[in-house]
Amino acid sequence: STFDDANLHSAMKDNVKLARYTVPTPVQKYSIPIITEGHDLMACAQTGSGKTAAFLIPVLSKLFGKAKKLAAPRPPPGARRFKAEPLVLIIAPTRELATQIFDECRRFTYRSMMRPCVVYGGAESLPQKNELAKGCDVLTATPGRLNDFVERGFISLRRVKYLVLDEADRMLDMGFENDIRKIVQKSDLCDDGTRQTLMFSATFPKSIRSLAKDFLAEKYIFLT
Ligand code: AMP
Repeated sequence: STFDDANLHSAMKDNVKLARYTVPTPVQKYSIPIITEGHDLMACAQTGSGKTAAFLIPVLSKLFGKAKKLAAPRPPPGARRFKAEPLVLIIAPTRELATQIFDECRRFTYRSMMRPCVVYGGAESLPQKNELAKGCDVLTATPGRLNDFVERGFISLRRVKYLVLDEADRMLDMGFENDIRKIVQKSDLCDDGTRQTLMFSATFPKSIRSLAKDFLAEKYIFLT
């Protein structure tokens, strides 16, 4: 099968072609229809399996159709206080992974109204804050820096419609469980309560199964 069979927005099909992705990887083949139909998902996927595109392609494709209505208000030029209100929030364990996801976000938001941003710890806050202040629809973040920015009022999670936890097992191993629970709680308060939640993990121990039970609205689907 190809990406042409998938029920994607034409602008997303163009971006997939520009990326030269012709054959979907197994995790993409399974995930894209499930996410397109609006289901929550827990997927087992290793690094290198194409898992980033597996969630970005369907999520962004759905937003392309509603971009005019949904895109975040752009701040007036020179605005000093502006709260980013992303529609898509992707949480990742490390700066390296967050940066890789952000690169794929740029690739797949090309020629759309969606603006991607990334924030991570271990780097200066100000440049990241300045990027957020230009508008942010698709945010990739590490858990600690995200909570810090939410607490300082730079980011609001009230408009999050798609929440992705990437490499969830690694985030638990790194001690981010409390941060993640705080983030999910805050995005639970979202405007109309129609959040779609997607979890990706290389392994599937009890701790991950219990997180999935707490975060996913429906019986999750487990892929190998
Ligand atoms: P990931 O598992 O998301 O880290 O992706 C691993 C690498 O595979 C990245 O460099 C992607 O750009 C690339 N990739 C993902 N999906 C495809 C695809 N369907 N065809 C070709 N390359 C892909």
